[in-house]
Amino acid sequence: MIFDLLIVGGGINGCAIARDAAGRGLSVRLVEQHDLASGTSSASTKLIHGGLRYLELYEFRLVHEALAERELLLAAAPHIIWPLKFVLPHEKGLRPAWMLRLGLFLYDHLARRKRLEGSHMISLKGNALGAPLRESYTVGFTYADCWVEDSRLVVLNALDAKERGATISVGARLTRARRENGRWLATLEDGTQIEARALVNAAGPWVSQVIEDALHVRSRKHVRLVKGSHLVTRRLHDGAHAYILQNPDGRIVFAIPYEQDFTLIGTTDVPYEGAPGAVGISEAETEYLLDSINHFLRVPVTRNEIVWSYSGLRPLYDDGALNASVVTRDYAFDLDAPGGAPPALSVFGGKITTARRLAEHALDDLAPYLPPHGAAWTAGAVFPGGDMAFEEVVARLESEKPFLGARLARRLARAYGTRAGQFLKHARAMADLGRDFGCGLTEAELRHLVENEWARTADDVLWRRSKLGLHMSEDQQRALRDYMATPSPREAGRGLG
Ligand code: FAD
Repeated sequence: MIFDLLIVGGGINGCAIARDAAGRGLSVRLVEQHDLASGTSSASTKLIHGGLRYLELYEFRLVHEALAERELLLAAAPHIIWPLKFVLPHEKGLRPAWMLRLGLFLYDHLARRKRLEGSHMISLKGNALGAPLRESYTVGFTYADCWVEDSRLVVLNALDAKERGATISVGARLTRARRENGRWLATLEDGTQIEARALVNAAGPWVSQVIEDALHVRSRKHVRLVKGSHLVTRRLHDGAHAYILQNPDGRIVFAIPYEQDFTLIGTTDVPYEGAPGAVGISEAETEYLLDSINHFLRVPVTRNEIVWSYSGLRPLYDDGALNASVVTRDYAFDLDAPGGAPPALSVFGGKITTARRLAEHALDDLAPYLPPHGAAWTAGAVFPGGDMAFEEVVARLESEKPFLGARLARRLARAYGTRAGQFLKHARAMADLGRDFGCGLTEAELRHLVENEWARTADDVLWRRSKLGLHMSEDQQRALRDYMATPSPREAGRGLG
């Protein structure tokens, strides 16, 4: 079979392009070397945001596009995307109040807003929103952006693509590809060959490596890798709101309620020169994040209260900026199709927030090289499981499956939306869902993840399909690892229940 499109990379950008293309009637094959979202797309701050700070960098195109995406994505995936109120304390000696007001005015008005609240100036004195902050913070601002379960958004893009006919392969690394007889002939590490009319290189941090080592095409554009890290600590404040805290170095640090019991603190901007791959937080980054947050907190957080950290590489488009914090967060494409040869489109930069629009633009650029296909369609389309308001899904689960209990019903509604019904359908008691590995992760859910969501290992389940790794004990995680390791995950999937 000759595919219309071969996509390299199962992060947010590759999966969004696969979804869009499959929905337009194109035949699509996506190859991901590890797990879906195993690169940068599970290591973000998990915000669907316009990027208030990018206004200072005059990134108006990006901010406008990103702001508009917020409401659209909120409606398309209400189970994994929800509004998040931010509190921005005013700090004497840093950005003056008029400048914050102006930035927030632009933020309020650069795109249409229906469901998200606009910004307000507030007093932090005697206000619950100011409670965790030092007394010297008396005035601040509030505004709204959205939270997103980043790795689940990637999987939902892949799932939607699959349901529209795409073939998604994980554990499938592209090693080389060459043009032959008017098409791309690609070879995977295991020797599999794939023919395609067009190729998309959405390899994120590996984009330049794929260009140089696998495609051998010429590119004038380069990726610039900038590491960003997060700390997860005990929960630092009550309430559902988050804080956006200004640092004396001009950067900002977020403190966001995370997974009910925790606070997420991030992030950093550290230039990264090594080969792309797994990265971790450094001592200096840990210190920077703790210092930043403790500057604001009445009750400082200590190293002992850190429960987890994660890091990722931003695959930014190298615009030649001197400082890693000010490299553009906008995306750019490099289209190589000399003399009408089969095209290779490489993707640089991009945000979780803008992946849907990036996919539309990518298909616009590739359209002349592809067979006739449908028009853009994703703007009004819901993601799998997103066809009902979140609280309605919870209420339905609680009434139809009372044995789940409130906490598990909410977790499942958050993870799967209306799709939770797929594996709960015939259950009348917890025992019907098979073994419980802890926190209500049952064999039935595991089978769903293996058979429908490409999960192969315990890490896929604990850290990307869910964040149960934060909640399950070491013993519970070990039992899950043993269970998924023997026999191999795919066979385990077949054998479940
Ligand atoms: P990736 O997610 O890295 O996907 C690329 C994939 O390609 C990888 O899975 C990799 O395994 C695969 N691959 C590579 N080579 C091959 C090969 N040869 N064969 C097969 N597969 C291959 N954005 C937001 O919108 N909101 C935020 O709050 C936000 N916060 C961020 C915070 C940090 C610290 C960082 C680092 C980024 C943040 N971003 C945020 C940006 C966003 O996370 C990234 O821009 C986005 O995830 C990049 O997606 P991608 O698909 O390009 O790359």
